[in-house]
This record gives sequence, structure tokens and C-alpha cells, in this order.
Amino acid sequence: MTTDTDLPPLNPVPPGLYRHYKGGWYEVLDTVRCSETLQGMALYRALYGGWGQWVRPAGMFVEVGEFEGRVQPRFVLHDPASVPLADLPTAQALVAHLQGLAQRRGVDLDTALRRPPPEPDTCCGRGCNGCVWEGYYTALAFWREDALALLSRSA
Ligand code: SF4
Repeated sequence: MTTDTDLPPLNPVPPGLYRHYKGGWYEVLDTVRCSETLQGMALYRALYGGWGQWVRPAGMFVEVGEFEGRVQPRFVLHDPASVPLADLPTAQALVAHLQGLAQRRGVDLDTALRRPPPEPDTCCGRGCNGCVWEGYYTALAFWREDALALLSRSA
């Protein structure tokens, strides 16, 4: 029988918000062990599209390699407090990440705090002053600040 002391090191990937070199946002949930190879696997989920959960060898998750013609990390860890809010995929990923983090701590952010600001569904189409997106990102930054403060109290 295999005991824990016989196992190779897990080399855990820090949980958190990551961006793939191609631009997609993900969150690492945990590092688990493959029952067949015993190697550590990063368990992570996509913060877009089908929101699927994936595993990938932990060493491969954190590796630096030549991707798209330059040497760079496959994934980069980002601090949710300082991710620039200037595009919708990033805004959606941030909201999903903070809501997921809260849920895993038994907190429903929608009720413990408030719902995140709604995504704009109007656009003047004329490059106007007072862009609806500027208002959205400003409101989202306030929501993020409050969500992170609440999460720091529930850690
Ligand atoms: S400035 Fe904003 S609201 Fe106006 S057209 Fe551009 S995106 Fe739409």
C-alpha cells in the first residue's frame, strides 16, 4: 500500500486568478494528485465560455516556455485587487473569481454585499462623453473593493 511518505512532492500551484498567455482568464482551485502517475495536477477552471474545469500537470502550469515566438510564462498569477478594469472579459472573470472565492468560503456575495453592477446594454454608438463603459468599470472597481474587504474578513 502506498503511504503519503512514498509519494513524490505535490509542488502545489498557488490558488488564484491567472491569465493564460493567449489572454484567457482562469482560476486555480487546488493542486491534486493523479492516481495513475502520482504527479501533482493543477485543478483550475475557465472564467469564460463554458466555465469548464481542467487539470494540467502542476509543473506544466507554472512553466516558462517559448509561446507565440517569445519566452514567457504559460500562466501569470494576477492580484484581483489590481487587475485593470478596461475590458469585458476581464471584468467578467474578476466577478466570477471573487464570487467563486466567496462561495467556497460559504459566503454569498450577492446577499452579503450586493450584486455586481450590471453590464451596460446601451451604447450611444457615437464615441460620446460619459461612456456607459466608464461608468460600469468605475462601479465595478467599487464593488471589487467592497468584495475584497468582505473576503478579507471571512478568510
Ligand atoms: S463612448 Fe461608450 S457609450 Fe459611447 S459609443 Fe463608445 S462605447 Fe458606446
